[in-house]
Amino acid sequence: MVIGAGMAGMAAALFASRRGIPTVQAGLTGETLYASGLFDLYGVSHGSSRVLIDNPWQGLQMLRQDYPNHPFCRVSNAQIRSAMDLLTGFLEAAGYPYQGYPDKNARLITPVGTIKRTFRVPETMWTGVLALAAKAPCLIVDIRGLRGFSATQIVSTLKPSWPDLKAASIDLPWENRLGPKYAEQIARGLQAEDARRKLADAIRPQLGLAEYVGLPAILGIHDTETVRKDIVKMLGVSVFEIPTMPPAISGVRLKAAFDMHMPGLGVNAFYHHTVHTIHRRRDGRFVLEIGRTKPETTVMADRVLLATGRFLGKGLVAERRGICETLLDIPVCQPENRGCWHREAFLDPKGHAINLAGIEVDNRFRPVTATARPVYDNLYAAGSILAHQDWIRTKSGTGLAVATAYGAIEAVADGLDDNPKG
Ligand SMILES: Cc1cc2nc3c(=O)[nH]c(=O)nc-3n(C[C@H](O)[C@H](O)[C@H](O)COP(=O)(O)OP(=O)(O)OC[C@H]3O[C@@H](n4cnc5c(N)ncnc54)[C@H](O)[C@@H]3O)c2cc1C
Repeated sequence: MVIGAGMAGMAAALFASRRGIPTVQAGLTGETLYASGLFDLYGVSHGSSRVLIDNPWQGLQMLRQDYPNHPFCRVSNAQIRSAMDLLTGFLEAAGYPYQGYPDKNARLITPVGTIKRTFRVPETMWTGVLALAAKAPCLIVDIRGLRGFSATQIVSTLKPSWPDLKAASIDLPWENRLGPKYAEQIARGLQAEDARRKLADAIRPQLGLAEYVGLPAILGIHDTETVRKDIVKMLGVSVFEIPTMPPAISGVRLKAAFDMHMPGLGVNAFYHHTVHTIHRRRDGRFVLEIGRTKPETTVMADRVLLATGRFLGKGLVAERRGICETLLDIPVCQPENRGCWHREAFLDPKGHAINLAGIEVDNRFRPVTATARPVYDNLYAAGSILAHQDWIRTKSGTGLAVATAYGAIEAVADGLDDNPKG
């Protein structure tokens, strides 16, 4: 049983199905809907020094030497590569391909015009990585009324290092209504060829000498590459997407790919369901009550993987008595008292101790007690709920979720090999 349908839960269910382990999964969407669609692995060093990482594999080796408690220490680089390849392979088959370099982070433009390092990039955004690397003549286009994405802002931030960058604003060509525009609505509109033609017609007069056009992430929901390639053909230049502010269309695309294709792998999925109660019987099996708003279905499981996230996912909750794990009330590794949760300054470069709180696990990803014994020999945990990592500061959200999900499912599979009837 995988509890959670964020990136860690989805990856775990995928890996379990590939291993032939009968799997039930329950959870809401988690943080995926807020995600930029970029798959970070390790972009900024852990600890207070904050070094930007170009080669994540070398960076992870250093991390393992300096921080032996970090969850990345429980999986090898080879396992993480396999995990990322399995995930992107699944998404490619679902019609949402990714690109990246084998041994270095890609650099791409953010919606505020800064540069971000990330490991895997949706195909629709990849040409932007190449345009930035070449500093080629490029036009950034925004759509009036689409909030949180200003071509002028992006260009004014990047212009000093990229002189051939220009900005343009267009009206959404198939809508006369004034007022706010929404990325998801535009993306759904662009599924129609006629809308794509109108968009290309609106951009063409601004092109000048541009060889590349950067647009906000609006190029369709399901078949994004068809939409992008069609506009490339119409404009005669390369076109790429730039991620938008959360909640972004890229999160919607990921969610759609998982929701539609995971059940086809044999995962018995209860999306938009919550595990209301869980208890462990005397014979060691778990009994879980799941349902939308109240218990509707009972699931018996030999092994349970907690991928319930931190505070946003609701795997952890911060209370007067401290930080608690919400389902089984298992021990949470956390600062000594509430006074130590945060530093004085919100943006303190050293980060906040609360962001390292979570579940401590052994080498087999089993949550442990204060005396380092597994809480249960058949309970596992993966993803952002794990202690000793700060995925936001280290730009490692997806990488950490996917790597630890892989490690946990390998441990589950090893246990099944040792005890095939278990
Ligand atoms: C704004 C934002 C931007 C991000 N941008 C990026 C990015 O650019 N690159 C990147 O790599 N990562 C990014 N991430 C991180 C990434 O999306 C994931 O948050 C991260 O990988 C952690 O995933 P998780 O599965 O561990 O936790 P979550 O995504 O929090 O998922 C937890 C899951 O557990 C479920 N759950 C909790 N309690 C129960 C219960 N009782 N019963 C059933 N289910 C339960 C929740 O419903 C949810 O499905 C971003 C996240 C946010 C919030």
